[in-house]
Amino acid sequence: MSYSKEVISKQVDKIKETFKSWLGEHKEDYFDNNAVGLGCFNYKPYDVAWAVTKQCNLKCAHCSISAGSAGKDELSTEEGLSFIEDVANLGPVKFVFTGGEALLRKDIFELIEYATSLNMQVEVATNGTLIDDNVAKRLKNAGVYEVAISMDGIGKIHDNIRGIKGTFDKAVRAIKACKKAGLKVHFHTTIFKINISELSRIVDFAEQLQVDRIYIGTLVPVGRGQKISHVCLSGEEVKQIFNFIVERQPKTRVWLRPVCPQFWAFLEAENLLDGDNGHKFIGCTAGITSFHILPNGDVDLCAELPLKVGNIKQQPFTTIIKNDIFKKFRNREIKGTCGNCKYLDICGGCRARAFAAYGSPLAEDPVCFLAK
Ligand code: SF4
Ligand code: SF4
Repeated sequence: MSYSKEVISKQVDKIKETFKSWLGEHKEDYFDNNAVGLGCFNYKPYDVAWAVTKQCNLKCAHCSISAGSAGKDELSTEEGLSFIEDVANLGPVKFVFTGGEALLRKDIFELIEYATSLNMQVEVATNGTLIDDNVAKRLKNAGVYEVAISMDGIGKIHDNIRGIKGTFDKAVRAIKACKKAGLKVHFHTTIFKINISELSRIVDFAEQLQVDRIYIGTLVPVGRGQKISHVCLSGEEVKQIFNFIVERQPKTRVWLRPVCPQFWAFLEAENLLDGDNGHKFIGCTAGITSFHILPNGDVDLCAELPLKVGNIKQQPFTTIIKNDIFKKFRNREIKGTCGNCKYLDICGGCRARAFAAYGSPLAEDPVCFLAK
């Protein structure tokens, strides 16, 4: 059956109106907490992710730190504790323990307990393979707020991307155990050309398992991801994801969070924002409110942007983030199409994609369907 342009256009308008009124009704929740200004993960005042080890039991095709074996120079327990204490000086920070596989680190519960004792909101980002009922209860008792479990497809496709058979079933066990233990659970989903058609099934599955949120990221060709750069999404495919979110979000209780700063520019361009909601989007948060620390203590701008700014073995984290380079991000001293774009303030382009494509974190985002 085919439809006239007029009928299609009316349907599209209806979908947009539904999203807009849904957003109006839910804006307090939608923009609450770690979503304010979100282009990626964001939390005020800071969102600090520490990759506690390079050790991993999987071989994910897109791993941004090419995890495998533990590095020889990883931070010791004492160095980790003192880093956490330093970060706590910043205020109510969101602190993410990630990896590699964070749960392979022997002192992980000691580190988590210390962070939660300092009133940080703690998330553990994991592939889920090591979480059973017992581990989920330990995470809950250690004060963890939420667990982010990687989920790139349903069944075999997830196993293929993650490089080990049986990974999907273990991730499902982890989700069920975490929900049972009273933890919030969200999916970290990375989309490439090979799983873009899975997105709808992933949302169905999240609904079934009562997952709270899905962070929908796109492949950035860093780490092992460089070897599969041919499956990175085009601008039009990114737009396809945004349209999917607009259509699907009003129908699901699972929060769909795009990890892409252009989402806000897209909502603005499509006239889907109220304009009076009082929230300021800042798009890409790298080096502004988001920081990523590698297992050896190197401080990067974000997990996908491997640009070392300092090392916490040499200088406290709270000193490193005062580095002048961050001013350029805060002031949006971006070049090319992003620099001339009317959405620069609310988007800013993905600095990681710019770095991967041009070797400069201040270059234009090479993947943008809005760029004229
Ligand atoms: S050109 Fe850059 S700032 Fe403008 S919408 Fe695209 S990615 Fe964002
Ligand atoms: S660099 Fe890209 S992946 Fe990192 S925070 Fe910015 S938009 Fe997100």
